[in-house]
Amino acid sequence: MITRRSLVPPQARNCLHCATKRLDAVLVRYLHRLGAHALIVEDVPCLRCPECGEEYLDIATLNTIESAHNAILDHERGDGHSRRLRFEELGSR
Ligand SMILES: [Zn+2]
Repeated sequence: MITRRSLVPPQARNCLHCATKRLDAVLVRYLHRLGAHALIVEDVPCLRCPECGEEYLDIATLNTIESAHNAILDHERGDGHSRRLRFEELGSR
């Protein structure tokens, strides 16, 4: 699970952490927090370093998750503590 915000431009396909020159495209679970509320997103596309395991989300993906999370909180007025969704579902909300 990614809990920090690693960012990499789409064209930079080398790991910033260990300088491996290949990143694999994978789907991961991402935990996004806004205050006390957590949004767990399944099947988020990201790039993962096969050597050190560092994972990179691009900024468009993060923006999608962040705006979906804000929309959920606006709708639910902050009730509840967490929500789980698949990344594919975010755009249709
Ligand atoms: Zn690496």
